[in-house]
Amino acid sequence: MPRVTTEALVLRRTPFGETSQIAVFLTRSHGRVPLILKGVHRPRSRKGGGVDLFDHCRLTWASRKGSRAMAQLVERRLLSHHPALRSRTDLMAAGDCLGELLLGLLPEGQRLPRALDLSLAFLAALEARPAPPALATAVFALQGGMLRLTGFEPTLDRCVMCERRPEAHHLLRVDLVRGGIVCSGCRDGQDHSFSLSAAAARVVRGLTGRDPRSLSDVTLPAEIEAQVRRCHERMLAHVLERAPRCRLPAPAA
Ligand SMILES: [Zn+2]
Repeated sequence: MPRVTTEALVLRRTPFGETSQIAVFLTRSHGRVPLILKGVHRPRSRKGGGVDLFDHCRLTWASRKGSRAMAQLVERRLLSHHPALRSRTDLMAAGDCLGELLLGLLPEGQRLPRALDLSLAFLAALEARPAPPALATAVFALQGGMLRLTGFEPTLDRCVMCERRPEAHHLLRVDLVRGGIVCSGCRDGQDHSFSLSAAAARVVRGLTGRDPRSLSDVTLPAEIEAQVRRCHERMLAHVLERAPRCRLPAPAA
């Protein structure tokens, strides 16, 4: 059986029998891959024990072309296990946001190495234990970045119908069914839009594509933060076709 060796992040793990695990990995070479980790809980297993959520590791598995059976892990070397995540509930909630994005937006087997790079940058930002307001900014950068990488980023700098650019002071209407901003001249009865200030739209666009590690001291005014948060919840709900499960704790009033 041909073997594959690549870098990966653990997105989900479930016990399997007495001594084994099934885990879903985001891999650099093959996108999302489920693997069976046979006997990892046996005392003398050479596979390094069971995996934990967001373990960053180097994996080797035996690929089974044409077989419907799940591929088996052969070897695993842990690179980092992100201890800060377990130190604060808001950091763990931010980790849950990452898991929900990757499991919800990336189809199984689609190779998207930049999604792994963004995930690792985000986890590294969490390891620096940012203060809660800066944590929210890092989560917005992650959410915007993942929507962009998977082709779900809405158009927020011009009307999707007539391409007119909004003026700075305007309250915009965002219609996700149409793919972004729709100006007052282009709206009709079939309106699913929600309002967003031009300032908040600029923040959503400005954070998309930013490295989360570079935002450790970037905080937003409370009113803008609340709008950006609502906008991201709606964008995610639109793509996932359900309300996002993951919610960062709201900032203290
Ligand atoms: Zn228009």
